[in-house]
Amino acid sequence: MVVYIFVTGGVLSGLGKGVATASIAKMLQFRGFKVTAAKVDPYINFDAGTLRPTEHGEVWVTEDGGEIDQDLGHYERFLDLNLSKSHNITTGQVFYEVIMKERSGEYLGQTVQPIPHVTDEIKRRYRCVADNMDFALIEIGGTVGDYENVLFLEAARQMKFDGEKVLFVHVSYVPVPPHLGEAKTKPTQHSVARLRELGILPDFVVCRSEEPLDEVRKKKIALFSNVKEEYVISDPNLENIYELPLVFEKQKLGDKILKKLHMSSRTPKFEKWREFIEKVKKLNDSVKIAIVGKYFDTGRFKLPDSYISVIEAVKHACWYSSVKPDIKFIDAKTFEKNIANLFTLKKFNGVIVPGGFGSFGVEGKITAIKYVRENNIPYLGLCFGMQLAIVEFARNVCGLKGAHTTEVDPDTPHPVVDLLPWQKKLIEKHKYGATMRLGGQRVKIKPNTLAYKLYGKTEVVERFRHRYEINPEYVDVLEKNGIVFSGTTPDGKIMQIAELSGHIFMVSSQFHPEFTSRPLRPNPLFKGFVEACISNKLNASQWQKAKKL
Ligand code: GLN
Repeated sequence: MVVYIFVTGGVLSGLGKGVATASIAKMLQFRGFKVTAAKVDPYINFDAGTLRPTEHGEVWVTEDGGEIDQDLGHYERFLDLNLSKSHNITTGQVFYEVIMKERSGEYLGQTVQPIPHVTDEIKRRYRCVADNMDFALIEIGGTVGDYENVLFLEAARQMKFDGEKVLFVHVSYVPVPPHLGEAKTKPTQHSVARLRELGILPDFVVCRSEEPLDEVRKKKIALFSNVKEEYVISDPNLENIYELPLVFEKQKLGDKILKKLHMSSRTPKFEKWREFIEKVKKLNDSVKIAIVGKYFDTGRFKLPDSYISVIEAVKHACWYSSVKPDIKFIDAKTFEKNIANLFTLKKFNGVIVPGGFGSFGVEGKITAIKYVRENNIPYLGLCFGMQLAIVEFARNVCGLKGAHTTEVDPDTPHPVVDLLPWQKKLIEKHKYGATMRLGGQRVKIKPNTLAYKLYGKTEVVERFRHRYEINPEYVDVLEKNGIVFSGTTPDGKIMQIAELSGHIFMVSSQFHPEFTSRPLRPNPLFKGFVEACISNKLNASQWQKAKKL
């Protein structure tokens, strides 16, 4: 019988509940269980596809084309699994289903109500996720006490009541207010009390905090939460999030979960994972990488979550090559305000322009790309970063004045990047939801290219999320001037990877290689980019000298 572990959140959003969920799942995977993880997003949006990245962080794309909350990325990275879009459940999907059923008379004249009809639909989706598994971790987004996740919590409560194997893990926050210098447990006490009002008693309380939780606080939380002290688990800030499964192992959380379920214990196998964590701890040398983007700001604060998979993919590749990543975010607008700011790019061993939409900051990105091309700084362009690299090259090398993507300038004299033909109709009809070219697609790799050297095969599957493409009419002129389209669709019609011959590393892809990067298996394009950054670091002084001669 499958075990459901529901992970709820208390006090704050953005606590790292996704990482905690992935880490618990990982511990069970260490023990040889078949494990999966799913995320409930209580918003009304059908999926995350139409959400701006500054709302909930980056949009993660699954192999089957789902556009989902960034937590799915943590699950896939930690568990090294490809999850399907059914692993994301939103209020929008649930209500849509219930209303469609009602419209087609499936409720046979009943009054359709939140309980039981909506909760039944939620339970159906929970069970669908858990099909064929030993454990299904289900993270309920938002915070206990929010209106919007109540029905999801209620459905989970009913499942326990129905006799299914269910555990509740409550991830809460234990702040240390600077003026007190003491960890305070009251917010956690209150959030567990809110959970109890909903009929849910947590089996474990996982406490997020800056420092490891001490015994005094553990005792207090145990007493007020009605859980044994040994079931209060510390989840302190870590330099490397991938260490969390081991931090939990140290507290025997995996064994305690099995004990609570009256299941026999199993020896966890985590040598490889531990070796990887130990290796990362010992690294000294670093490479400096700039991410030139725009989805950083929310009010006065910066939000790296918009590019979380890019950051993680850089880390994976750096660790693989035994260097530490030193990542800085640069707002593309700074290059528009003052061109002299471009010189700051000299300090970096490599530059990434990640995915993006719309015109804001575009000219800044294009000038940055021109600078790295002319100064032989390694460059990795991701989706929009590829399209803008082509725009820059068309304008400044091919002499196509005013070249642009029609996404930004519909009247450009040289539409080097244009809508995929089948996208035109969708845009005219304002059909924006889940209509991009999405998910895993086959990419044909041209032999004798850098991409071939990196991937080592002639066909790969990578994940896409775009509406525009390199205009086939301009492929010839771009190639004549030095661009090598080393990846295409299997029929050769859509350009998927572009590289520049003669440059230290100027590679960009129409897909998002960050979605297939895993901690122990970096994506080949990121790996190649980081290797180029390392050689750039080593050769930077020679290169500068050569330029002066
Ligand atoms: N806006 C571009 C497109 O839709 C790029 C998208 C992206 O970077 N994911 O094609």
